[in-house]
Amino acid sequence: MTLSLNVDTKAWRAHTRAFADSVPGLVPVAKGNGYGFRNTTLAAEAQHFDGGVIAVGVSREALRILDAGWRGDVVVLNPWRPSDRLGRELLLNPQVITTVSRLEDLASVRSVNPHARVQVELLTSMRRHGIDLDELGLVKLQALGFDGWSIHLPSTGSLDEATGLANAARKYIKAPVWVSHLGVDDYRVLHESLDGQAHMRVGTRLWLGAPSTLATRATVLDMHRVKRGEKLGYHQDRAPKDGWVVIASGGTAHGIALAAPVPQRSLRQRAVTLAEGALDASGRSLSPFSIAGRKRPFAEPPHMHSSMLFVAGGDPLVSIGQEVPVTCRMTTTTFDQIVWR
Ligand SMILES: *Cc1c(COP(=O)(O)O)cnc(C)c1O
Repeated sequence: MTLSLNVDTKAWRAHTRAFADSVPGLVPVAKGNGYGFRNTTLAAEAQHFDGGVIAVGVSREALRILDAGWRGDVVVLNPWRPSDRLGRELLLNPQVITTVSRLEDLASVRSVNPHARVQVELLTSMRRHGIDLDELGLVKLQALGFDGWSIHLPSTGSLDEATGLANAARKYIKAPVWVSHLGVDDYRVLHESLDGQAHMRVGTRLWLGAPSTLATRATVLDMHRVKRGEKLGYHQDRAPKDGWVVIASGGTAHGIALAAPVPQRSLRQRAVTLAEGALDASGRSLSPFSIAGRKRPFAEPPHMHSSMLFVAGGDPLVSIGQEVPVTCRMTTTTFDQIVWR
């Protein structure tokens, strides 16, 4: 009675390993909910790649992966800040590579551990974190272990931008370049132009790049016949037609439909949502659950662990205990069960 992620293990691994083979210097990224798989599972998979290095988002995630037995290096992608207590402790761990994105943080890092391993992040067109090229001359590493320059491009990352930043930084200090979000072909050009002194950090394309190898399913837990106009659910809304309320596993606790459906009152609101294909004919928000091959509307906003769906007509089209497909945003979903087939 669960929300489950079903993995065609052989086909999924065929994809991840082929991808890893096609990206020299690949750094697998395991962060957040582990793209649906959990970070420790991804770390175990990453042991089969060549690199010996993995990237996580924040210091807490680094600690989890190290505690789970990861023996290689761990890059913490979110830049270090003095207020992160665990981040300060990790500066003492020789397996951990800390990202530094401000000159003042470089000084603070040195004061905690003058020999800490760091990457220095460069500001890109994303404008999120990083030092500007005109500050390059102020980067003082002294005794720090320098693992290289970090370049985090927008999702439309361009080879020109990466090359420009990499060359400017390497003119100042020649060190490896760690990029994100280049196309594989562009990255291979960069890798070659830097004589192999390049890495690319990838999560989505690696772990979720073969969607046909993954199936996400909910279980039908219950169902009840309702007549048009009868009240139902927490909110005691009325059934729009004669039909069935079908209760399926999967709710807000799993990250299902986090943008809870709201009544779409204005015509404009409806037009927008209709254009996005998220409403059914009677104006209800479509759920991510499919029954008999079609997405069905929510009968009301999802509950913590289950969702109430509405199926119009005399036949509920499913039975209790049956599994139904549910579309999940993999970076926000926590599955009850991961089945490796
Ligand atoms: C999360 C992250 C990545 C991985 O992003 P995907 O789009 O999932 O491949 C790469 N680089 C940095 C700096 C990140 O924070």
